[in-house]
Amino acid sequence: MSAYRTINPTTGETLEEHPVIDDAAVEEILARSADEYARYRTLPLEQRTATLRRAAELFRERMPELAEILTVEMGKPTTQARGEVALVASIFEYYADNAARFLAEEELDIVGGGEARVRTEPIGALLGIMPWNYPYYQVARFAAPNLALGNTIVLKHARNCPRAALALERVLHDAGVPADAYINAFIDSGQVAGIIADDRIRGVSLTGSEAAGAAVGEVAGRHMKKYVLELGGSDPFIVLDDADIEAAVAAAVVGRFANGGQACTASKRFIVVDAVYDEFTRKFIEAVSKISVGDPTDPDTFLGPLSSTSASAELDEIVRDAVDKGATLYVGPQARPSAAFYPPTVLTEVTPEMRAYEEELFGPAAVVYRVASPQAAVQLANSSPFGLSSSIFTRDAALADTIAEQLEAGMVWINSTSKSAPDLPFGGVKRSGVGRELARFGIDEFANKKLVRVL
Ligand code: NAP
Repeated sequence: MSAYRTINPTTGETLEEHPVIDDAAVEEILARSADEYARYRTLPLEQRTATLRRAAELFRERMPELAEILTVEMGKPTTQARGEVALVASIFEYYADNAARFLAEEELDIVGGGEARVRTEPIGALLGIMPWNYPYYQVARFAAPNLALGNTIVLKHARNCPRAALALERVLHDAGVPADAYINAFIDSGQVAGIIADDRIRGVSLTGSEAAGAAVGEVAGRHMKKYVLELGGSDPFIVLDDADIEAAVAAAVVGRFANGGQACTASKRFIVVDAVYDEFTRKFIEAVSKISVGDPTDPDTFLGPLSSTSASAELDEIVRDAVDKGATLYVGPQARPSAAFYPPTVLTEVTPEMRAYEEELFGPAAVVYRVASPQAAVQLANSSPFGLSSSIFTRDAALADTIAEQLEAGMVWINSTSKSAPDLPFGGVKRSGVGRELARFGIDEFANKKLVRVL
């Protein structure tokens, strides 16, 4: 069972370490969370939402320290780290503002007469399993609606971001969320199956890889526990012949290279119709050559290191495989103070026998495809096993609408890349996951939609 460790990817230095907790500690946490649920769910809603509002304020007040943790622990450039903290504050505030509306009783129109109402109630203690790429945001999407609803949370964060995990827990407790309503636990993934099986845990939400999602979903299904899975993506970015190419290129750079390219909804496959392929690719490579790469603490840096040396090595294997099999490679500005850095990279002439064709490139490497028509673009877009988000660049609103309908994706953005916001539902289809987070949909996932019928 390996420990939770903060390793600064910019320097390779190990800064802190936390042992994984033992089974007795897991047992104690489950008991605390379930006991607290019985109390927490009965608190007036305004009391729960007041703590979420306070959490939003604290995220804003502590922004510099909270952002710095992300920069030190996973190499997120300062400006982007601050953006993540601001988004997290807005998610807590959104549920503080809207929970009463979302949780209001619904009267049903009844054919048979009499009264029927649906109440939205909590279901119990939940397990959250989260990744390192947006260490606060991924948790906020799950924690804010569920704490508003009255569920309690045991949170297992990724092994490489314990500092962010603890800082987030501190904000929530300082805001007044009861200590046992949100418990950060340094659990080993080997302990997860037993926790899901435990009667005191009523649901599990995982954001992470397909493999982790499949493992967790399997156990949850066996024990009839509700689950939400937010998994990988290989989002298409379709450029049609009437697109504003300058705008598409600017969006492509941010869509692919923000957060070191380590975002589930990063644009990963650029699918460009023949008529504008050469122009788009030339301008895209030109823009990539200007990306500021280097020290993530410098506010002008756009691309810092990846989260770890192994992340950089894994990406390199996929890029090399493509190049060995005939892909064309463009490598942008290099900065290699440590092995976790990977230069912004563009691949063209990628074909189905290359790993890059089907796998998720979780780092700063873009693949650009040439297609003959909008229909061929849709076909290539849908050939992926994933179906998270997608983008279409065109001035033809009617065509964009038709393509939006045809894309097998949970989210479609027209003339933009995917940008998460508290009031927009987030989630995928196919191997990108099960369920939705954020907006009003996010508060319904772990809710008991209880019918009350009065005759
Ligand atoms: P990961 O390896 O799946 O880890 C995510 C979390 O799952 C970590 O807490 C990890 O714990 C845990 N975990 C891993 N295997 C497990 C298992 N068998 N049983 C229980 N828990 C397990 O994912 P990652 O590499 O950190 O994150 C990158 C992936 O997440 C990418 O595929 C990305 O697209 C996806 N992602 C999806 C979304 C979305 O909203 N759809 C958002 C962000 C990221 P340990 O750290 O202890 O291994």
